[in-house]
Amino acid sequence: MRKSIVTVILLASAASAFAQTSAPSPTLAKAAKGPVAAKDANKPQIGDFGFDMAGRDTSVTPGTDFFDYANGGWVKTTPIPADRSSYGMFHVLQDLSLERTRTILDVSAKTPGDKVGDFYTSFMDEAAVNAKGATPVKPMLSALKATKDKTALVTEIAKLQRQGVGGLVGVGVSQDDKDPTTYVVQLGQSGIGLPDRDYYLKVDAKLATIRTAYQAYLARMLTLAGEPNAATRAAAVFNMEKGLATAHWTRIESRDADKTYNKWTAADFAAKAPGFPWAQYMTAMGVTGRPFYLVAQPSAVTGEAKVFADTPVNVLQDYAMLKVLRSYAPYLSSDFDKTNFAFYGTTLSGTPEQQVRWKRGVSTVSGAMGEAIGQQYVAKYFPPASKAAADDLVKNVIAAMGERLRNLEWMAPETKTKALAKLAAFTPKIGYPDKWRDYSALQIQRGDLVGNVARANAFEYDRDLKKLGQPIDRAEWFMTPMTINAYANPTMNEVVFPAAILQPPFFDPKADPAVNYGGIGAVIGHEISHHFDDQGRKYDLNGKLTDWWTPQDVARFKVFTDALVKQYDAYEPLPGQHIQGGLTLGENIADLAGLTVAYDAYHKSLGGKQAPIIDGTTGDQRFYYGWAGVWRTKWRDAALQQALLSDPHSPGHQRVLTVRNLDPWYAAFGAKPGEASYLAPANRVRIW
Ligand SMILES: [Zn+2]
Repeated sequence: MRKSIVTVILLASAASAFAQTSAPSPTLAKAAKGPVAAKDANKPQIGDFGFDMAGRDTSVTPGTDFFDYANGGWVKTTPIPADRSSYGMFHVLQDLSLERTRTILDVSAKTPGDKVGDFYTSFMDEAAVNAKGATPVKPMLSALKATKDKTALVTEIAKLQRQGVGGLVGVGVSQDDKDPTTYVVQLGQSGIGLPDRDYYLKVDAKLATIRTAYQAYLARMLTLAGEPNAATRAAAVFNMEKGLATAHWTRIESRDADKTYNKWTAADFAAKAPGFPWAQYMTAMGVTGRPFYLVAQPSAVTGEAKVFADTPVNVLQDYAMLKVLRSYAPYLSSDFDKTNFAFYGTTLSGTPEQQVRWKRGVSTVSGAMGEAIGQQYVAKYFPPASKAAADDLVKNVIAAMGERLRNLEWMAPETKTKALAKLAAFTPKIGYPDKWRDYSALQIQRGDLVGNVARANAFEYDRDLKKLGQPIDRAEWFMTPMTINAYANPTMNEVVFPAAILQPPFFDPKADPAVNYGGIGAVIGHEISHHFDDQGRKYDLNGKLTDWWTPQDVARFKVFTDALVKQYDAYEPLPGQHIQGGLTLGENIADLAGLTVAYDAYHKSLGGKQAPIIDGTTGDQRFYYGWAGVWRTKWRDAALQQALLSDPHSPGHQRVLTVRNLDPWYAAFGAKPGEASYLAPANRVRIW
C-alpha cells in the first residue's frame, strides 16, 4: 500500500481492471473509438498547428468560460462512447495504446510459452472462462468457509490479500518518508467496497440509491455463488462496511503527509487497535519482525479493528467471500462479470456498455506484466527523437521553475537556496525504464486465468516484500511505458513521463511549439511543481519528509493556498455538488504552477523573437489552446459525482479555468471585468 502521495496528472483508470492488493478493484470499463488517424507526415496530427480550432464554440467569450470557448464545439458534437464513463483526449490516447499493445499481444499469443501471450490467451478464451463458472475461486471460498474462528479467518484473508483480494487494511512496502534510504511496511485504512466513506454516510438522494443498489449487488453475487439467504447476509455485510467507513479518515485528512506518518511497533497494534489478531495477520502477510510500521490513519485502523471484533464470524466470512467474488469477477464467467459491471460500471459510473473483451484483456495483462510488453512497445512506437525532444523540454521547464524560485519575493533567502538545491537534485525519467523487470519467476498458464491473476498479484506482493532491508531501487518505475499519465514521487525527488504521454495532443514534434509548451510543457511543469505543492514541499532534496521552510514561509504560502481552496470550492460542476478545494489543492497548485513555468519556458524558447501569427492566432493564444486541448473532456453525471467525491484532481473543465489566475491569459484573450471567469488582479492566485 503505497501512500497516495505519489501524484499523477490524472486518476489512472485503464489499469483498474487488474486486481490490486490494497484497493477495491471496481472494473470501471473504459474504451472508445479507434486510434488517431495518421496524416501528412509533415503536418501536425491535430489541426493546422496542433490544436483543433473547429472544436471551439465562439458563441461563448473566452472571459465567460475559456473551456467552453476552446472546447464547446467538440463537447456539443462528440458523444461519450457507450463503454466510457468520461471521454477526452486522454481516452483517445488510451485507445491508441490499447490497440498497439494488442498487436504486440496478438503476436505473442501465437507462441505457446510466451508469458504475456499465454496470459492474454487465458483471458481471451471466453468460452473456457464461461464453462468454468465460479469453479476457479471455489477453493478460496471454501477455505474461508472452513475457518472455525476469527484468527483462522484472518490468516485466510491475508493469504487472499496477497493474491489481489482487498483486505480490511491495506499493506504495502515503500520508502520511509523520514528516512527515504530505507524501505518500510506501511498500513492504512481499506476494506470498503464503495469508492469513499461518503458513499455510506452522506445524506444525498443519489448516494442513497447507490447504497440500495450496492446491497442488491452484494446479494446477487452471493446468490450466483450458490449461497442461500443472500439479501439478509448482504445487508449484514453492508452494515459492517458502513462501520469501516465511519472509522475512515476523509480523503482530505488522508492527503496530509505529516498526519499520515505514524510509527507503530508490533506491540502497538495490540494495544492501540485491540480486537484484531494482528500477530497472526502480520505473520500471514509476511511482515513480522519489523522494528516499526508506518500507519497512515491510526484512528481508522483502531476503528476497523473494533468493527472486526464486534462482527460475528459468519458475517466476516461473507464479507471476505464477497471480496473474493468482487476482485475476481472480471476473470470468472459472464454472470459474475456482468453483475459486477452492472454495478461498478453502470450504476456507479453511468457507463451503459462494458468494454469489448480484448480491451479488458490487454488492460489485465498490461497491469500484471506491463514491463514485459513495454520493451516491445517502446521499440515500435517511441522514436529516439521523441525522447531527445522530451529531455530538452523537461530541462527547459526545470530551468523556468528555477528562475521563478530565484525571483520569488515571499520566500526567505535560506529556504530559496534549499528549494533550488532540491530542484537541482531532481531525477527526470522519460519514456521507459533503464532496466526492465524480470518476470522469469512468475508462472503463467494458458488455460488458467484466475490462477494467472492470483500468481501475478502474489508475485508483485512478494517482490515488494523482498525490498525490505535492500537499498532503494532508484531505477524503478511505477507506471508502464504504455500509460497515458505522469507522476511525481516525493521520496525519490523524481518526475516521470511514460512514453505514451509524449504524443499528440500533449506533444507533437510537427505542432507549433506554443501548443507543445501549453500541452506537455504544462504537464511537465505540473509534475515538477508537485514537489513544491502543499504536501510535496515538505520533502527535502533527498526526498525526506522534514520541516525545511521557515514558519513565515509556511504562513505566507498558506495565504495563497487558502485562496486557491476557496476558488475551487466555489465551482459547482453538478447541481449541489461542489469541487472540494481541500481535496484537489495539490493538483490545483500543480496546474497553476505548471502552466506558469511552461509559459516562461515557451517565451525563453523564442529567444527574444516575436512568435509568428498562425491562422490569425498569436503564440500566447496557441499556448493556452494547448492547455485547453489537453483537458478536452466530458463526463457522465454518475462518474463526475464519483470524481467530485474521491478524485484529488478537479474535472478537466475547471482545470482549464485556472488560466483566470494568469495575467498573460487576460492579455491574450481580452477577458473583461463583468465576465464570469474574470478575476480582478488582486484576486488572481500567484504562488510561484
Ligand atoms: Zn498531479
